[in-house]
Parts: sequence; structure tokens; C-alpha cells
Amino acid sequence: MKLGAFDLPDLPDLDGIRACVHCGICLPQCPTYRVLGEEMDSPRGRIYLIRAAAEGRVGITETFTHHLDLCLGCRACETACPSGVPFGRLLEQTRGQIERHGHRRLSHRFLAGLTLGLFPYPGRLARLLAIVALYQHSGLQRLVRASGLLRLAPRLAAMEGLLPPLGSWRARELPELVQATGRRRGRAGLVLGCVQRYFFPRVNELTARLLSLAGYEVLIPRDQECCGALHLHAGRLDQARRFARGLIAAFDGGVDLVVANAAGCGSAMREYGHWLDGDPRARQFSLRVRDISELLADAELPLRPMEVTATYHDPCHLAHGQRIRREPRALLNRIPGLTLVELAESDLCCGSAGIYNLLEREMAERLLELKVSRIAETGARTVVTGNPGCVLQIARGCRERGLAVEVLHPVELLARALSY
Ligand code: SF4
Ligand code: SF4
Repeated sequence: MKLGAFDLPDLPDLDGIRACVHCGICLPQCPTYRVLGEEMDSPRGRIYLIRAAAEGRVGITETFTHHLDLCLGCRACETACPSGVPFGRLLEQTRGQIERHGHRRLSHRFLAGLTLGLFPYPGRLARLLAIVALYQHSGLQRLVRASGLLRLAPRLAAMEGLLPPLGSWRARELPELVQATGRRRGRAGLVLGCVQRYFFPRVNELTARLLSLAGYEVLIPRDQECCGALHLHAGRLDQARRFARGLIAAFDGGVDLVVANAAGCGSAMREYGHWLDGDPRARQFSLRVRDISELLADAELPLRPMEVTATYHDPCHLAHGQRIRREPRALLNRIPGLTLVELAESDLCCGSAGIYNLLEREMAERLLELKVSRIAETGARTVVTGNPGCVLQIARGCRERGLAVEVLHPVELLARALSY
């Protein structure tokens, strides 16, 4: 079956396209429209393009692909839209069509292939991280950065700048089961994520300890793989489905809730019911997904006072993808002595957006500049955010601007207030 320039499977949802009444309310919320001011780089313009392709008025040309690829998938337009246009799904379905029929730049295909072929695979990632750790600890990183050599290869510089210090990359393996220590509230499965597991292993360790303290028995299956979020956003829908099925199987039947501490993973997992339509296990799994902030916001935690001024950046896939804004703030506000300064435009994308900052560097840099300026305005020395991609991106932006701030996941700050 064909629908204009599209074909089966995963046709862009026509009802979703038709729900757009062209009101333009979403335009000021769209980061790419804010930067470029171009209708075709706005949600309304992109929906117009998808509709034109579905009606056979345009093909999946380079221009079509360019405007759709420049979208961050941040879903700020969904939050703003009064008509309920499911833009995130439309984008992913359309990118699936582009994957099959589109013409992407060679550099785009190479970088996407490299990262998507790396992150979900622990063995490959571990080998790469061993080399990166050697690069950092041998002093070579300091030399390379000081030499200015990286300025000759801006894309490589952007990737290199994202690397956090990998002192503890060889994380202590977490036990498969952590007993509840507080009043028992149920059994929670912990999703380790790819970036979180290798770049921020301590965040996973702390998440398990805090869940246990909050009364959850924590199941951490060793054989769990990637959640498929990066593949989903890239339109590699079959691979995303394979990862989704794998993760569902890893937690099958054993947990009351499935907990994510990476906004991107949580958001993708809440969509499994849609992408694996017809599989009741997927729907059940999606209904069980929680962000860690939801479970800790009202948990009994013996928090000690801590004098700190912090600000909070809303990850797109938490604020827009899962509509979670209150809980992370409530959680931070529970720390006695903590002053939370509201960040202007805290839900405007920082430019990270999965692997977007590697593929669409210019736009990502402009959004990062804006984010860092807003952070500087707060005067806070601690930035808190619940997505590893945002942590890496914002930390790089602040470091390069010479802004002395520490970027932390909420559980890291909470753990300090518990003297962990
Ligand atoms: S997902 Fe984000 S970048 Fe894409 S159209 Fe919507 S608001 Fe704009
Ligand atoms: S707010 Fe919704 S209905 Fe209005 S233009 Fe944007 S996507 Fe269309």
C-alpha cells in the first residue's frame, strides 16, 4: 500500500497530520524556528511537508529530508499544541520513510551508523572507552586540547568535548537484586541505559540505593540491553522494536514498576505500547514506566541540610515527552538549605537531543549557547538535570564558556544530602 511518497510499514499517521489546524501556537516554542525563523523549520511547516508527501505533492527529496532532520524531536510543539497533534510519532514515522527512501548526506549516514552501531552494544563500547580512558589518563587529552589541533576538525572537537572524565568508567557491577531497606512499597526494575551505564555508572548505583531506601526491592537484570530510543528517533524502527522486545522480556513478570533515570529512555519506553501495537505485554510495560523523580518525590529520605544554590534544566523527554516537571523540582526542594533558582526557558532544548549534537552541530551549538547564557544569568553553581545527554552537553558548554558550574543528575545531589 502506498500513501503518496510513503509506503508500508509505518505510514505517517494521517489523522495526526489532519489534526493540525495551522494555528501557529507551537511556533514560538520550537527551538529551530526560534533560531532560524523559517516556516519550514517550524512544527507547522514540517507537518505541511509531511502532508504534502502523503498526498504525493512532494517527494522525499534532499530538501524534505533536511527540514525533517533539523528537527530536534524535542516535542515542545506537542506541549504547546491545543489540537493534540502527536508530532513525536509523526516525526519518527516520517524518519522511518526517509531511512528507506531518502537521500542523506554521506557524513550524516556515517556518523549515525557509527553511533547507533556503538551505543547499544556493551562489548564495542567497553573497548572504545578503554581507549578513551587511556587518552585521558596518559595526559594526551590535555596536550591535544592545549595544542588547538581540534579546531581543524570541529565535528571531532564536538565529540571530544562531550567526554566526561572516565576515571571510574569500569563501574562496580550492580547486584541483580537489591533489598528494600525502608517501608516496603513494591518491586522496581531498574533500566541501566547505555550512556548512563558507561559514562555515569555512579548515577545507576545511587538510583538503586535510593530506591532501596525509599522502600523498593530493586531488580537489575544483567542481560538487559538498550531501550531503543536512539534508533526510534533516527527512524530505525525495526531495530527499535527489537530492542523494545528485548527489554520487555528482561523485566517480564518480575516487577511492579520499571524505573528510568534517563529521560530519553523513559520517554521511549512509555511509547512501546504504540510501537508494538497488538502486544499486550508492551502496553503493560509502558504503563509501569516511572521516572526516578516520581518515586522519590514523596519518599521518606533522611536528608541533611546542604547550603547550595542550584538551577534545574528540564530535559525535553521528561518535560514534553513524559509531562514531568513538578516532581524533580519537588525533590530538590526537599533538601534543607538548597535554594532552587528557576532557569529561564528551562524546557528549551539544550541541543543534545540524542545524537543530534553530532549530526546537526551548528543548530546544536546555537541552542547550547542560549542555554549556557540562561544558566549564567541564574548565578547558580550547580545545574541539575535528569538526562545523561543533557548533562554531557551542558557540562561541555559551561566548560567552554569558562562558567564554573557543576552539572549533576538529581540523584547525585540527593545522595550528597544523604552523605553517600
Ligand atoms: S519537535 Fe521540537 S524542533 Fe521539532 S518541530 Fe517540534 S518543537 Fe520544533
Ligand atoms: S499548535 Fe498544533 S494545530 Fe497549531 S500549528 Fe502547531 S501543530 Fe498545528
